[in-house]
Amino acid sequence: MGECCHCGECCRWIVFGDARQLDPWALGYFVARGAKINKGLVLIPSECPHLKLNEFNPSESLCDIEDNKPGACKEYVGKRISGGRKYWVPDNCTMTKK
Ligand code: SF4
Ligand code: SF4
Repeated sequence: MGECCHCGECCRWIVFGDARQLDPWALGYFVARGAKINKGLVLIPSECPHLKLNEFNPSESLCDIEDNKPGACKEYVGKRISGGRKYWVPDNCTMTKK
């Protein structure tokens, strides 16, 4: 398992659901509102208020509740399945690298 590069991408989107289960009308609405489709999932832009981004030095972007972050954040390790639950894995997530 690779190291987290602190890009913050996994903290910027909420997974709404499977794009195939939405009719085109609803999908078009979400996309018009800023959603993106990635790996078949509808992702809603929603940057976590606890993400402290350092745009000049991404490796210094941090979670300001690191020790108390939600279980879903703790379980994410750059894999689609972790802790028996499914996660969205950002394309650029360095934790997926060996
Ligand atoms: S709580 Fe921390 S790890 Fe979880 S989404 Fe927010 S910034 Fe990211
Ligand atoms: S997408 Fe991956 S590399 Fe980027 S902050 Fe999240 S866990 Fe770290």
